[in-house]
Amino acid sequence: MIQIYIPLNFLGVVYREIKQNLTDLDKMFTLMDREQEVADAPGAVPLVLDGPPAVRFEDVHFAYEPARPILQGVSFEIPAGRTVAVVGPSGAGKSTLSRLLYRFYDLQGGRITIADQDIRAVTQQSLRRAIGIVPQDTVLFNDTVAYNIAYGRPDASQAEVEQAARAAHIHAFIAAQPKGYETMVGERGLKLSGGEKQRVAIARTLLKDPPILIFDEATSALDSHNERAIQAELRAVAQGKTTLVIAHRLSTVVDAHEILVMDGGRIVERGNHAALLAAGGRYAGMWAMQLNQDGDR
Ligand code: ATP
Repeated sequence: MIQIYIPLNFLGVVYREIKQNLTDLDKMFTLMDREQEVADAPGAVPLVLDGPPAVRFEDVHFAYEPARPILQGVSFEIPAGRTVAVVGPSGAGKSTLSRLLYRFYDLQGGRITIADQDIRAVTQQSLRRAIGIVPQDTVLFNDTVAYNIAYGRPDASQAEVEQAARAAHIHAFIAAQPKGYETMVGERGLKLSGGEKQRVAIARTLLKDPPILIFDEATSALDSHNERAIQAELRAVAQGKTTLVIAHRLSTVVDAHEILVMDGGRIVERGNHAALLAAGGRYAGMWAMQLNQDGDR
């Protein structure tokens, strides 16, 4: 019995590993497929930016599948160099906003502009160069830490990579590995925790230094010490950049210029933290609930 149990259990572990690999591969292929889904318009020109731009969603309508509308008339502006945060229940359409800004998909109605330029009229290369994403779940390549950090800017020098890692507070951890920045990470190398992966993503973004940032906050809560540290780092990175934060924890959004509460593909409430608390609506309810949960942690 034991003899059978052990190999099966072992196979279970291997299966989970393979599945995890496939998930990552799947993600990569999905990304590549999406790249082909939208094409540069004939005569597309590079996005022209002069410092951090204003980003505007104007009456945006969007569906992944025609029969199921996801965004139904979403309008908001992130003023140049400010932060707008989006909160709301799972499935409300929050992450969809970031996918549309990066132009993984085109809209069915309305438009998105960056510095008054419709993102459909500019080259995808210039659009994506202008935007840095710190995603929920960072995909690490089966390569060295240095490669993974420099991914957004392959020409970066070792000194620049280290500087970014220091600013993201991951340098000491990397330096403590026997092979330092040459340590292999990813599925076949050193496994990083959720917080460490996010720090690699932050270092990557710091190095790329884009004028527009998207933070898709991790759904799985980090321990509160790590979470506070990462939030502080994200705030520092966002300084002076036009930033969209997809927030799963309300503590991240308190300082935002505007907070959008989404539900069912619509903005159902908007305002800054103080105004929304005073209004005593959905946001105030979410805030009270989160305070209770945090008290339990
Ligand atoms: P969460 O807080 O759970 O991350 P969210 O508010 O970010 O949720 P979205 O990821 O924007 O939600 O998803 C909005 C809706 O769109 C969901 O109902 C989801 O099932 C659907 N959806 C997301 N991606 C796709 C896709 N590639 N194809 C079809 N439907 C999708």
